[in-house]
Amino acid sequence: MSPIDPKDVEVTRARMETDDVRLSLGGLLRGKLALITGVANDRSIAWGIAEAFQREGAELAFTYPGESMERRVRPIAEGIGAKAIVDCDVSKDEDIARTVAEIGKVWDRVDVLVHSIGFAPRSALDGRFADVTTRDAWRITMDVSAYSLIALARAFRPMMPAGSSIVTLTYYGAEKVVRNYNVMGVAKAALESSMRYLAEDLGQEGIRVNAISAGPIKTLAAAGIKGMRTMLGENAAKTPLRRNVDQEDCARAALYLCSDLARNVTGEVLHVDAGQNILGVVSME
Ligand code: NAD
Repeated sequence: MSPIDPKDVEVTRARMETDDVRLSLGGLLRGKLALITGVANDRSIAWGIAEAFQREGAELAFTYPGESMERRVRPIAEGIGAKAIVDCDVSKDEDIARTVAEIGKVWDRVDVLVHSIGFAPRSALDGRFADVTTRDAWRITMDVSAYSLIALARAFRPMMPAGSSIVTLTYYGAEKVVRNYNVMGVAKAALESSMRYLAEDLGQEGIRVNAISAGPIKTLAAAGIKGMRTMLGENAAKTPLRRNVDQEDCARAALYLCSDLARNVTGEVLHVDAGQNILGVVSME
């Protein structure tokens, strides 16, 4: 018998379609104040997280980088009842400082900080790693995708009480080579390591820091990665659960990591990838 029976794939898909429901746990984050970065549109992973947090009773605030993003983000953020919507390009220290000041006008603390930001110049995501990884591409990708976690954590730490939580989004390309992910994989490795150092440091104040390593999901950022469509198609048949993951899967993991359910969990990379990371060579025979 072949290791992947097409019938099994169909059965699993059917099951997954029927469980396409928004989980409601009756107020897991009631009263929590959550600052969400990285919403570009309603397909963003951060948007899935925001919707789940709202369902569970959290108050929300959002950031976006620059005017063109504001046009996309403001309408949906207002629609969900955001308490603040702040312009914050994380590559600018003055933007981060202004964001802390703006959030400080509406909230006296921040219980949850979601870092869902990544960027690499497109030219660095297509071609041979040794050729396309320029000094500029390295600097920009590292700054926006990895350093920003440290900068935001430092800036918001004074507002974060014991028991609060920071979560970031990473990808398997940090651990193993994923073709065309290139410098973004290197930045995700730096992000995961930074997350652990922050977890140790901020742990002294009772602040937890974790990462969700999401399987591939069709979003604006993912559209910049060559071969994404093929990867999504192949993944649905190859992962142990024979499916792709979606924004709701990440949102459920974020609910766990940012609630008291995970009160003693910090410095962790939680894979939400239908099991993809456990696989070695997969034969489709
Ligand atoms: P997305 O395009 O919806 O989100 C990326 C966000 O990064 C956007 O909101 C964008 O405004 C923000 N951003 C980029 N540069 C910024 C800057 N200078 N300042 C502030 N914000 C900036 O795509 P997404 O897939 O939801 O990505 C969110 C996170 O999830 C990223 O870190 C991404 O690497 C990670 N991730 C995505 C996938 C996937 O397959 N989509 C898988 C694993 C991890």
